[in-house]
Amino acid sequence: MSWCVEVGKKSNGRCAYCWEPIDFTDQKSWELDHVIPVSRGGSSEASNIVVTCFRCNRVKRDLTYHEFVLLCHKIATNHKATVEQLLRTYMPEPG
Ligand SMILES: [Zn+2]
Repeated sequence: MSWCVEVGKKSNGRCAYCWEPIDFTDQKSWELDHVIPVSRGGSSEASNIVVTCFRCNRVKRDLTYHEFVLLCHKIATNHKATVEQLLRTYMPEPG
């Protein structure tokens, strides 16, 4: 746990991807992530590990950090819409 907090300091105690604050006391809400996945040749050195929220790590899966960020960017720019517009168009709130 203290080792994880050390890694978390790299992103100011926030998720390295969405930048939401991490609650280190809730061990189900965060995970350690390999910036370059082991399956893609990444190492398990601390320099390749970041703390992320559970959701971001689930979505990123075996993408590299760069691929993940570029994918998020592509979704937003290709639609030429704001996040709010995308949500309204494709995921209207129930009810
Ligand atoms: Zn996150």
